[in-house]
Amino acid sequence: MAGAAKSRETESGAMRGKRGKRLAAVVIAAALVAASLVITLCGAWDNIFYALGYKENINDGNTLTAAFLNVGAADCCVLSCGGKTALIDAGDNLGKDSCVKYLRKNGIEKIDLAILSHFDSDHCAELENIIKVSKIKRLVLCSAFKGSADGESIVSSARAAGSDIEYKSAGEALELGKMTITLLSPTGDEYGSDNDNSLVCKACAFGKSILFTGDAGEGVERDLIAAGADIDCDILKVAHHGSKTGSGEEFIASVSPKYAVVSVGENNYGLPSNRVIKRLESHGALVLRTDKNGNIIFELSDKGISVRADYG
Ligand SMILES: [Zn+2]
Repeated sequence: MAGAAKSRETESGAMRGKRGKRLAAVVIAAALVAASLVITLCGAWDNIFYALGYKENINDGNTLTAAFLNVGAADCCVLSCGGKTALIDAGDNLGKDSCVKYLRKNGIEKIDLAILSHFDSDHCAELENIIKVSKIKRLVLCSAFKGSADGESIVSSARAAGSDIEYKSAGEALELGKMTITLLSPTGDEYGSDNDNSLVCKACAFGKSILFTGDAGEGVERDLIAAGADIDCDILKVAHHGSKTGSGEEFIASVSPKYAVVSVGENNYGLPSNRVIKRLESHGALVLRTDKNGNIIFELSDKGISVRADYG
């Protein structure tokens, strides 16, 4: 009898143990659901992913995030501030789909404004893939390329995907939330080469600025200086992947960038030019290269500029 009583006691002890574990699991699950609900309601998931390094700081209205993406021998930069997004050049479609990955990772399903400097494939070809993951509201192109056969398929794909197509030249300022993107070149008269007809623009927010030069050469640089264009900036996207066709001495002195980004990959043209890199450094710029540093991410705010690279 004593044996049976003991076994009943052990049984009920085991049952209490099981019940206790089940209760603890329910309490933990409820706490996790409640915590998740609070985080969701406070819209704090982005901050958590950002702190963990999974996402960029794209929704903060007090920070402009500029992501120069490692797109190989090509150009592509995504600007984000307060939930608004601008794309400056789209990169090539040769398999280095860094822009599509970046947009997906950060949940960017809408690009408010996309600017293609010109229709060389290393600046525009990937747009056909980008519009599959992110709707482009406005696509701004240089008026020098209106009707160009080179851009025909890109333009018709974007139009079919619902983008408004706009052709513009220097003198216009495009407002996007707290960002202003001012078009600086070409000033009207077209140049003889597609590279020189690159739509040069300057993005400003929080008193900081980034100058995008496409593939423009020294002739354009001289014209910008002669026209008294506001080219002084904090961050320079170095022209033409660091080619010696651009980034002349006087231009770099006038631009006086703190940071110079060379968007470059494997190539047969000897890019970037050592002379250009040395010139940038001699003017005090910290030179960053997408082929060596991977994606280069700047954050600009009233507090200053921070930069990091993912070496991807
Ligand atoms: Zn190029």
